[in-house]
Amino acid sequence: MSDSFTGERSSYSDERSSFPCVFCDIVARANDPITDDDQSSAHHIVYEDAEFLAFLDKYPLNPGHTQVIPKAHHRWVWDMASSEAGFLFMRARRVAKALQKVCATDWIIADTGGIGVAHAHIHLIPRFEDDGHGELADPKIFREIPETDMEDLARKIKAEIRRISD
Ligand SMILES: [Zn+2]
Repeated sequence: MSDSFTGERSSYSDERSSFPCVFCDIVARANDPITDDDQSSAHHIVYEDAEFLAFLDKYPLNPGHTQVIPKAHHRWVWDMASSEAGFLFMRARRVAKALQKVCATDWIIADTGGIGVAHAHIHLIPRFEDDGHGELADPKIFREIPETDMEDLARKIKAEIRRISD
């Protein structure tokens, strides 16, 4: 499930979007009642409320790699209002607790990235002994995960998040 590849890989920054921002595009589609169900599965959305969204990273550095984002566009997490950023981290904690359970590891690293997509986001990356990453996740080491496994992971994470409160 977690064969690693090194070298060139695609990323969100290679994607074409009808919005100037790929993540705003995902938010708009998730908010659209007509496409919502399709998009939820297409983007492996694991959590959604009025202000935040969490989905499996399409280019995972490890199985379970999740993005937690505000629906409102901000360039950096640090541009968000203090309370809004606080709620974002509360959601990230909740997702991380679910990842610990589903991915069977206590070691979940978080970073706010910001280079690939210019929309505030927190990467949550489950870590494992001998996963090839250093102290931080190495963006050159990514996992090719079959679509059916991604669906399965998303379903389990989503179910686990429902069991955890903020
Ligand atoms: Zn955006």
